[in-house]
Amino acid sequence: MLSYQQARELVVPRTTALSGKPQTEFISILNGLGRILAQEIIADRDYPPFHRSIRDGYAVHAADTHSGATLRCIGELKAGDTPSTTVQPGTCLHIMTGAALPPGADAVIMIEHTQRNADTVTLDRAIKPGQHVVPRGSEQAANETVLTKGTHLGFAQIAAAAQVGAAQLTVYRRPRIGILSTGDEVVDFTSAPGPFQIRNSNSVSLAAQVETLHGEPVLLGNARDTHEDLHAKIATGLQADALILSGGVSAGKYDFVEPVLREFGAEFIFDAVAIRPGKPVVFALCQSKPVFGLPGNPVSTMVTFELFVRPAIEILSGSDPTPLPLLEAVLTERMDEKPGLTHFLPATLEYGDDPRVTPLRWQGSGDIIAMSHANCLLVIPADRETINAGERVQVLPRGL
Ligand code: AMP
Ligand code: MG
Repeated sequence: MLSYQQARELVVPRTTALSGKPQTEFISILNGLGRILAQEIIADRDYPPFHRSIRDGYAVHAADTHSGATLRCIGELKAGDTPSTTVQPGTCLHIMTGAALPPGADAVIMIEHTQRNADTVTLDRAIKPGQHVVPRGSEQAANETVLTKGTHLGFAQIAAAAQVGAAQLTVYRRPRIGILSTGDEVVDFTSAPGPFQIRNSNSVSLAAQVETLHGEPVLLGNARDTHEDLHAKIATGLQADALILSGGVSAGKYDFVEPVLREFGAEFIFDAVAIRPGKPVVFALCQSKPVFGLPGNPVSTMVTFELFVRPAIEILSGSDPTPLPLLEAVLTERMDEKPGLTHFLPATLEYGDDPRVTPLRWQGSGDIIAMSHANCLLVIPADRETINAGERVQVLPRGL
């Protein structure tokens, strides 16, 4: 059986090979958070555009400065002012943060290191040329690339685009991700379940997980455990850019997802991975679309999304798949798990100098409540049966 790493290594090239780059759209930077840039952003001028003072103080000739030096103050310069007065040797200009260094001056002495007396200023130290001044063009020269194609837009990247006047951006279109749950026992989450029915929480968690990746979830409802209903709903789902199914992939008598996908000509890349929860997870290519059949137990659905669906959606979004953000932490209590499968267990991670991780009591992969108390998954490697308190283990902190 494939390890989870081997399975991920299949998802990435197979998804990449399917899709060319996604289509693009033109949006306001205010809607840019989380999107992937489909163009280069170029600096429209030098940054900073002038020699910029980064302190409130006095613009001076550095050569004039020493402890006890007294300079004549010949005016002031606010941020936004045009510097017109030249600072001659023996003089200085009161300057504010963000203002342009005036002609003649080559440094700024902080106000805290001076004493003002009418129009004279006494300094308490020497400063070097260039002190508290950021030279023109030192952050970025005009016409240089500020952001490359494929950049993931966070708040800082959006600010960089705003700075250079790129108020509208060409980004990749959000992939539409079909979400179809299955099961005769499943009712809509807005409905009252019968005594032996359950509400559809998987469609909701999957939609939220898709949203964290800035994909567009397309909720297709729930298919009954019949060939006919599954066939009809999968046909609709295949109109999206990718399809995620929950449930119906185990060995039960009514688990029809794989045979129905076969009717659509699916090529199965894997249909089991050596993990718990989530072992019967399916990845197939169907009509040039990636299709995931995730086991229906809610924690299995969440975990297998994070492990296998996430990189595929990243690729469909026009971005490079990100590696799993595994961290190390000290296990606070002994654990005994069945060897042969890599376990991903809900746990609480305490951050700090030496992060510590504690597994949560849980009732297995149906226990959404335990998962909702977790802030990480604790990873127990397949070759370990017992791990003692105090040992270092891997944790997956993201996406919970
Ligand atoms: P399955 O993978 O179809 O055998 O489903 C396993 C179990 O997961 C079922 O017995 C349900 O308890 C649960 N389950 C399946 N689908 C959902 C869903 N959409 N929302 C919440 N729980 C589900
Ligand atoms: Mg089922």
